[in-house]
Amino acid sequence: PLFFFSHKAEREQEDNKHSEMEQTFIMIKPDGVQRGLVGEIISRFEKKGFYLKGLKLINVERSFAEKHYADLSAKPFFNGLVEYIISGPVIAMVWQGKNVVITGRKIIGATNPAESAPGTIRGDFAIDIGRNVIHGSDSVESARKEIALWFPECPFNWQSCLHPWIYE
Ligand code: ADP
Repeated sequence: PLFFFSHKAEREQEDNKHSEMEQTFIMIKPDGVQRGLVGEIISRFEKKGFYLKGLKLINVERSFAEKHYADLSAKPFFNGLVEYIISGPVIAMVWQGKNVVITGRKIIGATNPAESAPGTIRGDFAIDIGRNVIHGSDSVESARKEIALWFPECPFNWQSCLHPWIYE
């Protein structure tokens, strides 16, 4: 077998490998939930090899949506964006893995679905920028902030036995 724990030191080394990896915040927006894309989206992140560390379905309040998108408060589309995010339940998730922030953005595709490549989530499932199905943190720093905002209870810290089959 490629992988089993024999010594405490080895186990700690494995634990460190897991904990050193990045986390990102991913949200399936209300249109993604309404359109039944939740399973498909989770599946893409799972099949890539990322680990699901937190997940909940929630209705967010206006003030919370405004906080999440605070950096965009001066934009002309801000009010419409907030209305969109509070229009139905969203799926909030934490995903973990090597380079998950940037790779997650690639899996999601460009902000405007008209420009997102086929094979990306927005490229495959969206048409309009204001109905682009999914959010993903754009940097390690914003991921940290967003995870703290959305998961004050802290993401789960389970570890996958698939690790040695995904990482060399
Ligand atoms: P991203 O979600 O790709 O990180 P931004 O942070 O720039 O993109 O914008 C946040 C969200 O605001 C976008 O995902 C999109 O839903 C919405 N948005 C961005 N630009 C526009 C726009 N010009 N018109 C309407 N909605 C927009």
